[in-house]
Amino acid sequence: MNRRNLIKGFGFGIAAGTLGIVSKSDEVMANEYTKATKGLPALKITNVKAILTAPQRIRLCVVKVETSEPGLYGLGCATFNQRPLPVVAAVDKYLNPFAKGRDVDNIEDMWQNAYTSSYWRNGPVLNNALCGLDQALWDIKGKRANMPVYQLLGGKCRFAVDCYTHCGGRDFAQTERSVRRAMEEGFRHIRIQLGGYGSPHLSKTPAFKEAGFGLPSDSLMEPGPYVRATVKMFEHIRKACGDEVELLHDIHERIPPIQAINLIKQLEQYHPFFIEDPFAPEDNGYFRMLRQQTSVPIAMGELFNNPHEWTGLISERLIDFIRVHISQIGGLSVARKLAALCEWFNVRTAWHGPGDVSPVGHAANAHLDLAVSNFGIQEAVHFNDKTREVFPGSPTVKNGYMYVNEAPGFGVDINEELAAKFPLPDHPGYWRPVRRSDGTAVRP
Ligand code: MG
Repeated sequence: MNRRNLIKGFGFGIAAGTLGIVSKSDEVMANEYTKATKGLPALKITNVKAILTAPQRIRLCVVKVETSEPGLYGLGCATFNQRPLPVVAAVDKYLNPFAKGRDVDNIEDMWQNAYTSSYWRNGPVLNNALCGLDQALWDIKGKRANMPVYQLLGGKCRFAVDCYTHCGGRDFAQTERSVRRAMEEGFRHIRIQLGGYGSPHLSKTPAFKEAGFGLPSDSLMEPGPYVRATVKMFEHIRKACGDEVELLHDIHERIPPIQAINLIKQLEQYHPFFIEDPFAPEDNGYFRMLRQQTSVPIAMGELFNNPHEWTGLISERLIDFIRVHISQIGGLSVARKLAALCEWFNVRTAWHGPGDVSPVGHAANAHLDLAVSNFGIQEAVHFNDKTREVFPGSPTVKNGYMYVNEAPGFGVDINEELAAKFPLPDHPGYWRPVRRSDGTAVRP
């Protein structure tokens, strides 16, 4: 019986029931109705495993969830480039036995129970592992529904995902050339950094190295020169490249909060699209002070992994863009709620999208970007050919817009045989120490 006839039959059953001529019990009818509306056979999770690969020398971790339907599986991103092995243990040794045998369909129920299954929760290791499971279940849900995930989230609010790209250089001229190239490629939003996140024009042999403090590979960062050079960089790029291109910048939490406030006030005249991560998460208390002094849009949240870190900033309207790393906060199930919270406070989304998010994770970012009305901007990524071969169906960027393919789920697959040919680099991948001239450690 098809669904429409069954509903009709159910209606008749109720009417007939009042006349006392029903042939099936209400319970039987309700069960038939439930099965028909669900329209899908019950499926169980049969295996959850982590897959590591580094086709771009970045330690990517993807979780594969297999089901009781042969050939049906889902993929989720669990990439924590600096600590991949603990994530693998959390997935293979803990989430796999926890999830095995459970219902594939009940994503929210799975998230709630898996989240508390360690009793002590949060943190990048457990949240990344949980995201891998969570996104894989959304991928499976899309495949079962024969729809891209953005359809399950309400459908498209825009035709594609507007992106910003990264530009920089050792000096102003090199940075300018980089910006011009990106503009020619069609980017309307460009993040500018002078020498990455450091102080490139300072001595290569700072005092701490000459004194033999730390290791030769430790790098230098001095707040004063950085602030002065950043203001001049904005002045240069605005003059050289005009007023129309939207400029962004990442402070990367590296300077004392009061200096960050001072820098952002100075940048206001160059009307940045946003300034990113002005303070370390430990310094959230400074946002009110910042807000009182400048109207420069603020993006925040790359290092957040606990709702206590973002709820106050959003509800008190202290930031303009939420910029969390979706796998770091526990998955798509959390991010879609976070986007909804932001909508009521006019905070826009700008999900973290660096190289250390797998193509599956970038696709998940983009599916959410397509479906939420308060989308702001997406950080674009460049996948090399090897990465695209390992992950067929990866999102593409053209004319500054990111596109997902229309395949069911997230639309990204993995070639496991090929993935195994790109093992993790020997270096453990930790964040290298950054120091001031005298050797003092600099966050993050
Ligand atoms: Mg950042």
